[in-house]
Amino acid sequence: MDFEESEEHQLIRKSVSDLVKQIPESYWREIDQKAEFPQELWRRLAENGWFGVNVPTEYGGAGLGHVECSIVMHEASRSGGSSANILLSPYLAAKALTYYGSKEAKEKFLPDLAKGKLVCCIAVTEPNAGVDTLSITTSAVKQNGEYVVNGQKVWITLAHLADLMILLTRTTPIDKVKRRTQGLSVFLVELKKQRPRIVRIEDVVMRTNSSNEVFFEDLRVPEENLLGQQDNGWEVLTSIFNLERVLTAAMSVGIGELALNKAVRYANERIVFGRPIGQNQGIQFPLAEAKMLLESSWLMVQKAAWLLDKNKIAAFEANAAAFLAARAANLAADRAMQTYGGMAYARDNDVERYWRDARLLRSGPIPEEMTLNFVAANVLRLPKSY
Ligand SMILES: Cc1cc2nc3c(=O)[nH]c(=O)nc-3n(C[C@H](O)[C@H](O)[C@H](O)COP(=O)(O)OP(=O)(O)OC[C@H]3O[C@@H](n4cnc5c(N)ncnc54)[C@H](O)[C@@H]3O)c2cc1C
Repeated sequence: MDFEESEEHQLIRKSVSDLVKQIPESYWREIDQKAEFPQELWRRLAENGWFGVNVPTEYGGAGLGHVECSIVMHEASRSGGSSANILLSPYLAAKALTYYGSKEAKEKFLPDLAKGKLVCCIAVTEPNAGVDTLSITTSAVKQNGEYVVNGQKVWITLAHLADLMILLTRTTPIDKVKRRTQGLSVFLVELKKQRPRIVRIEDVVMRTNSSNEVFFEDLRVPEENLLGQQDNGWEVLTSIFNLERVLTAAMSVGIGELALNKAVRYANERIVFGRPIGQNQGIQFPLAEAKMLLESSWLMVQKAAWLLDKNKIAAFEANAAAFLAARAANLAADRAMQTYGGMAYARDNDVERYWRDARLLRSGPIPEEMTLNFVAANVLRLPKSY
């Protein structure tokens, strides 16, 4: 066992940190207020090859694994906060394509993914299914060598700007399959070719990565854009769900550290009763607790990412990482708010933004109740409650 990061990992950390830290803090504040895409962050990450981390070398990527992706996500969010979420869907798309894409789809999309030319989104959630993902009804019907898609998705992050969508559909109705996990299929949809109707949601979190409602009316998807086998989409989805949990956990740790570092600086500077407020244990202890919880969450992120790279079962660790890191980030952000006192509520101090963004991570990509349900039923083997 070796807990030391390799020289390569330290170099990745430093390179990403250097290029994100050059962006002034005011930038993140301004784009959050305007709900604007983090173009500057995207440009820097793309120019330096950070979208190609898990793209195989033969398609122009670095051919690295998910440990490396999680380090990039962690470093980018440690400076850029939730804007680092722009890395998430491209990494998921690269994984899905590498494992499940047709030869044509790999050749078509992987090189551009590696160059950072494709904004991506992942479309799973539906208004009438919610966390009961297997109840989705968006359908894909095969006709003359292509699939015709009808239905609706909601909360699809970056769909309004995306070039590529990873789309979950039903290819066999739920009442025609033996198990509810059967009959699903996952597609890559080229959104610039055929555009579904997309309506932006005025959201209050992760505003630089806005979300959308998406309506599909007879949208046509070529056969070669099917990922994996028809009706076997659950396998494709679960393989990227675990990575999604690991990467959002890495982002949670980064956002929590941003909030914590800011709070520590303020606790040292703010003088009340003639001494820094950070001299009071009532201020110190909550910050010390947040530090320990963030560090231990990061260990779980690394373990889960390492398991994924070894192609080992990582469902428990990936879920645990998402749960623990979201909790730790929320604690850190909440305690940063308390440390700042009234000043926490002034936008210019940023902590309210970290607090808002951290809050989402308790509800998505998987709400913590569903993580607890998973661990209770699948790990502890308690009776399934739903
Ligand atoms: C800002 C934002 C961005 C998002 N981005 C994306 C995206 O890019 N792509 C995408 O597909 N989705 C996205 N989502 C959707 C997100 O994953 C879902 O909102 C989330 O999974 C919860 O689904 P729901 O809102 O339908 O909750 P519901 O299914 O309506 O559930 C409501 C609450 O009840 C709880 N609950 C339900 N059933 C049970 C049970 N059996 N036991 C205990 N508790 C239960 C849930 O945990 C939840 O807390 C995003 C959401 C937000 C807010």
